[in-house]
Formats: sequence, structure tokens, C-alpha cells
Amino acid sequence: MEKRLRLAPSPTGLFHIGTARTALFNWLYAQKIGGKFLIRIEDTDFLRSKSEYTNNILEGLQWLGLKWDEEPIKQSDRISTHKKHIKKLLESGAAYRCFTTDDEISELREEQKKKGLPPRHDNRHRNLSKEEIETFISKGRTSVIRFKIDEKIQIKWLDQIRGEIKWQGKDLGGDLVLSRRAKGYEIGDPLYNLAVVVDDNFMNITHVVRGEDHISNTAKQILIYEALNFKLPTFSHTPLILNSEGKKLSKRDCVTSIDEFRDMGYLPEALANYMAFLGWSPKSAVSEILTLNEISKTFDLSDINKAGAKFSWEKLNWINSQYIRNMDSVKLSEVICRYWDNLGWNPPSKEWAIKLVILIKDSMTLLKDSIDQSKPFFLLPPIQKEGKDFLETKDSKASLKLILSYLTEQKTVKLTKEKAKEIIKEISKIHNVKKGILMKSLRVAFFGSLSGPDLIQSWELLAESKSDISRIERCLKLI
Ligand code: GLU
Repeated sequence: MEKRLRLAPSPTGLFHIGTARTALFNWLYAQKIGGKFLIRIEDTDFLRSKSEYTNNILEGLQWLGLKWDEEPIKQSDRISTHKKHIKKLLESGAAYRCFTTDDEISELREEQKKKGLPPRHDNRHRNLSKEEIETFISKGRTSVIRFKIDEKIQIKWLDQIRGEIKWQGKDLGGDLVLSRRAKGYEIGDPLYNLAVVVDDNFMNITHVVRGEDHISNTAKQILIYEALNFKLPTFSHTPLILNSEGKKLSKRDCVTSIDEFRDMGYLPEALANYMAFLGWSPKSAVSEILTLNEISKTFDLSDINKAGAKFSWEKLNWINSQYIRNMDSVKLSEVICRYWDNLGWNPPSKEWAIKLVILIKDSMTLLKDSIDQSKPFFLLPPIQKEGKDFLETKDSKASLKLILSYLTEQKTVKLTKEKAKEIIKEISKIHNVKKGILMKSLRVAFFGSLSGPDLIQSWELLAESKSDISRIERCLKLI
């Protein structure tokens, strides 16, 4: 039988890292077992669902490289099917109309609160006669459909991550509401637990992998599966992602949407690689830098931890820096050129851009670090105090003058790295100036300070963008 997994996001917000990690675990396992990864957009909360969030989720999945195998299904397109199944449950006696009003429910809650009891419906309309139903309807009372939950029942399943899970019927809050209020004999809009079961069955889902916050829903859903005579999938409940204080990662932790990670300059491959290790611990030691295809080969649901997974910026940053370092320089330069373009910085040539990227990539953690690192190659940097102090020394000024006259005399020569080294060597020898002084003076002229990227490689780049000579002249004017 074909193995089928799915992500069932509710488009009520931007694509969240928690949902993305659930998607990733589903995708990895589908790859591992040669199954399919599907999407169902659970957009039946009409007040909160927005099509821009659906687009954001789908774009985020694509960006992370998590391709789905079939056209995504929209839950809102399937409401009539959900209702048909509710009708079936009504007809079989597994569900019934409940006319309890909101005021009556609040009263019940108040009483329970006073007694220190958890909220739970008292199933008061479970056995209404036809006549009693008729009377409620004739009085204009609206009704929800409730699914009977036997208090004495124990629901058990073998969770692929957590082992055997047992849940008592009495702990499920009373008979379960399947649909919103409706008038007369109508059936209102179907609710989550019913819709999920009907849709997972329709999509032939064989493995449900979702967050641990759904464990109690699974207990309820298993009862609906049984009442509808549907084949049960296997269930796996993944651990939550926690912040540094050990609490559930939330919007309060600043960055939670996949967009934000992208905008901060994380590479999709790096973020996906990091997310895979958020809760997954492979049996045997593996490298921490792995492609998704590599991970899918060793990945198993049983290697996912039960305990929450702490989010670590440090680890994510390290992984990202490794990806930047190992990324093909031509490809990386294309990505970085977009940052430069946004700032109106124009590299003199493609080759120049690649060379600059090679020069700075080892010192980058995030893509946007490329802005600070490359800025002195596009904009004239101010001369800082340490630079000024150094330029005040006699040798420094003389050094710059020697280099300048050398360069102006040999105008036509293309300055390569080799040529740059040769110039330093020659001047040092002929004029008896220390190489270190020559290099430091040049560094101040180029970058305004005594630190910065490799001087010789920088010189080649600045010569190509025709600003090495002008930077030296500027310095000489300043002293
Ligand atoms: N729409 C639910 C959510 O976003 C899906 C839960 C499930 O996977 O069944 O939490």
C-alpha cells in the first residue's frame, strides 16, 4: 500500500517554524519510506484564515525545498462531504443534536469551577426524544452536533515516537462537538476533529505526524475513525520547540516565521538542516552538516525525542556559516549581488563580485553580513582614530608616497595579487622600508583602520574598481 503523509496547516498566520519542522519531519519520513508528502490547507476558520497566509506557507515550503507530491487540498472545498459524514454519525446514533445554550454552558462551567472541576460538558441532551427535539426546534433553539464519548472507554494507540499512549474517555471533556450551531434540522459548519478524520481518510493518509499539542485530539479522532469504520493511520506526536527558558517558542521570541529567517539571511538549506536536528537524534553519530536527502536516509520517527527541543541561535548560526563557507562562490555571489543591488552598489564585473565574495565568505554568519563586510569596497570608509594615529608616523606617510609614485609611473600595468606582492617587496628592498609598515599604511589608506580582510586580495579588487590610487591620495592629503 502506498505510504502517504501530510501537512495540514491552518492558514491563520505566517508559516511558523513549528509548522515548518512538522512539515520537514513528514517530508523526511515520506522520502525515507518511498511515500508521498501531501498538503491540506485547513482553512475552515473563516474569520482567521487568509489566502495570503496560504501563499506564505506554500512559498515557505518551496523555499525550504520541501516539495509536495499532489495538488494541495483545501478543506473548505470539502464541507459538504464533512456534513454527509456528520449525518451518518447522527443516523447511526453515534452523534446527536445538543441544544444547550451558551448561557447554560457558562452556568455549567461556573459550577464546575466552584467545585474545582475541569471544564466538561454534562451530555445533557444525549438521549432527547424526537418530541423533545421538535420542541427545542419549534422554540427556535439552535443546535450543535455532539459525538458520544463513552466515559468508561480507554483509548490506546502505539505512537511511533512516544510508544503506547493511553487516554481515558472521561478525560476528553464530555461529548465532542462536531459542528457549529445551526437552525432547525440543519448541520452547522464542521469542526476540526471531524474534518481532519474525514479528510485524512479521503486522502488515504497512512501516517499522521504532528505536534504533541494534538495528543488529546488523536484520542478523540480515533473514536471518530472507529465510528465511521475508517482504517486508522499510525500516529506520531513530535516534541515542541522551546525557547532558551524552556517555554514553547512563540511570537514573543521575536523570530518565528520562516520569512523572518529568510530575511535575516539564513540559507534555506542551512535552516532545514538545523530544523531536522531540532528534536531528532540519529541512532549513530552523523555529521551535523547534511543535505535533506542525506538526512532522509538515516531518518526515523522512532529517533525523534519525546522531550521538547531547545532552539539554539548559536547552533543555527554555526550551521549557516558552514553553508555559506561551502556554497559555490558563483551561486553565492548571485545571492549577495541582490543585497548590493538593493543598496545601489554596483560591482565593476561579475568576476570582481565573485572574487569579493570569496574574500568575505569565511567571515560571514548570515547573508546580510555581506553588507558590512563588503561596504568598504563600495564606499569610501572614514579614517578611524587608530588609522589616523598610524598615518601620523613619518614612515607611514613616506610609504604611501612611495607606493603612489610606483603606481602612477606604471599606470598601464594590471594589478594582480602577484604584482601587488612584488610591489611591496621591491619598494621595501629599494627604499629600505619594512614590509609591515608598507602594508599597514596601505591598509589605513584602503580601509581607514588597521584591521580588515586580506590586504593583497583587497588591493587587487580595489585596483580593479579603480579606487586604490584615489584612496592613497586621500590619505596623503589628510596627513
Ligand atoms: N490544522 C491543524 C494545525 O495546524 C492540523 C493538525 C493536524 O495535523 O491534524 O494544527
